[in-house]
Amino acid sequence: LIFKKTYSPLTSAEIIAKEKANMDDKRFQHCVRVSETSRKLAKLNGYDEDKAALAGFVHDYAKQVPVEEYVKVIKEQDFDPDLLNWNRAIWHGIVGTYFVERDLKIRDPEILTAIRRHTTGDVEMTTLDKIVFMADFIEPGRDFPGVDEARKITYANLDKGVGYQLAHTLSFLIEQRNKVYPRTLKAYNVWSTK
Ligand code: GDP
Ligand code: FE
Ligand code: FE
Ligand code: FE
Repeated sequence: LIFKKTYSPLTSAEIIAKEKANMDDKRFQHCVRVSETSRKLAKLNGYDEDKAALAGFVHDYAKQVPVEEYVKVIKEQDFDPDLLNWNRAIWHGIVGTYFVERDLKIRDPEILTAIRRHTTGDVEMTTLDKIVFMADFIEPGRDFPGVDEARKITYANLDKGVGYQLAHTLSFLIEQRNKVYPRTLKAYNVWSTK
């Protein structure tokens, strides 16, 4: 694992070490697989492979940051106070970029936006946003009913993959009687028909 361009004053090895120190091994291996899958999707969709591989690698950097730290950052860093009504599932993307900037010194707006959008999707999504969003969903460690169809659709058409994932997530959330973050629903309404 190596990133030729890091988009950070830190070296590739330093970024990898910080990532490893910030999560358990299971989560770290997921991030490695999302990185590899992002690289593959970048190649298929004419996007910078090294940039996609880095974005995929750091997408869950803040997934295991303690809840108290998130609450403090949301209150002190001018995030929308409505975020306090949600949890780490939603925070680690939208607020997670704060920790990625602070610790990994990655300031590239495309990478930060892809992290921000990787859980909920969004009404507008760039190629990198779609790559990371889909790599997270179909990386080889994922095993859920429909994952093979999701892989097939995504490798054939990235936009259709986004629609498939949002429909799948929405069904799952509703089945669990879980709250739907409004951005997830807005994204579904745009991408379900593509
Ligand atoms: P992970 O970080 O690799 O586990 O994957 P994600 O970042 O894509 O998703 C984290 C969790 O957020 C998953 O369990 C999703 O089901 C959940 N999630 C996605 N959208 C929503 C939403 O709108 N509302 C809620 N409550 N959870 C969501
Ligand atoms: Fe995530
Ligand atoms: Fe995701
Ligand atoms: Fe993930």
